[in-house]
Amino acid sequence: VIHINGDRLLSDLRELASIGKFQTGVDRVAFSAADIEARRWLVAKLQAAGLDASMDQVGNVLGRYPNVASAVLVGSHTDTVPKGGWLDGALGVVYGLEIARSAIEAGERLTTGIDVVSFQDEEGTFLPFLGSRSFCADVTEAEIAHCRSRDGTQLAKALATIAHETPPLRFDAARHLCFLEAHIEQGPRLEAARRRIGVVSAIVGIRRFRIRVRGRADHAGTTPMASRSDAGAELIKLAAWVGEEFSRLAGPDTVWNIGQIEFRPGAANVVPAEAEMLLEFRDPRGDMLDAIETRLLERVSAPQSRSCKIEAEQLVRIPPTAMADDLRELIATATTAAGEQPLLMPSGAGHDAMVLARFVPTAMMFVPSIGGRSHDVTENTSDLDIVRGCEVLAAAVSELRRKLSNGRAS
Ligand SMILES: [Zn+2]
Repeated sequence: VIHINGDRLLSDLRELASIGKFQTGVDRVAFSAADIEARRWLVAKLQAAGLDASMDQVGNVLGRYPNVASAVLVGSHTDTVPKGGWLDGALGVVYGLEIARSAIEAGERLTTGIDVVSFQDEEGTFLPFLGSRSFCADVTEAEIAHCRSRDGTQLAKALATIAHETPPLRFDAARHLCFLEAHIEQGPRLEAARRRIGVVSAIVGIRRFRIRVRGRADHAGTTPMASRSDAGAELIKLAAWVGEEFSRLAGPDTVWNIGQIEFRPGAANVVPAEAEMLLEFRDPRGDMLDAIETRLLERVSAPQSRSCKIEAEQLVRIPPTAMADDLRELIATATTAAGEQPLLMPSGAGHDAMVLARFVPTAMMFVPSIGGRSHDVTENTSDLDIVRGCEVLAAAVSELRRKLSNGRAS
């Protein structure tokens, strides 16, 4: 059994949070000076703990456990959104550091070790999941060549700043037997349920549509109401329908959002000729996403009033990602053994685990976010919850190593 050191864990998390500190949070967007400094900090910490660690040309950091043939891969990401929180992915990375370090100190000789990873640009400053996708050899040269950040900086230019680092670190199917990612919940469910540990059932699938209504521009003072083809009014009707109809169809985990609406030409005295909205919905179940999509497309293609035409263009279609049942069980069992009751819940946000799950059995664990806040400087988790989460993950990793090592000593 691995006994972690809670005080050391908290002090490492706080030390890491001092790199790129912004108010009570952290600003450490991918490839910024602070991001690279944090990654070098992690390499040094992993090396001091006895792992063979390096940062690669993408910015991924991997610490390899010494003298083992295989490993449980544990980690997340240390980059943040602009003006973000101090925990986010850093929590899961420092959990990995603390668990591997404690295991080495304990001197248990098992053939399966603990490798620790921090993936680059999970938050998508340039390319979402760049690091985990690179790690899984799932990103193309063309994608990198065409990618720019929102402020127009080329990804290739950002990559050039660390071109002298080691060649891309890759997922090794013979070595990496599974991936465990701990993360803050980034929502209010654990807190509301008064639970300390969330076991992720699945990561939600996402469907995003641009819905465009075409009508006819007319003078808004002289054209009688009955003779208008008002694209704006038609879109608002549709938006109201979405709220009502989706509520009726929704499962317990379905969420949706109309994130943007635009009218054109966009003047008080012109009847909108065109209106557009961005609609997104998420659910951990593929059949639920299908049912909602079918209903939406039926409504969009139904005969319209006033000669307005409605079109729906699909922009994003990400399938739900299931977590490995046996790993999920293992975390749940470790939670119960620690005297806590696990909450089985979907992840409404994307994570590196989504990428890894396509290549290796993967599971995720959540700890509570105070007030559900995240991606903001107010993001926080109590020290007690942070330490308890690491203890549970360490227990799960211990059990996993014991099983995977098959009792053999190295
Ligand atoms: Zn994150």
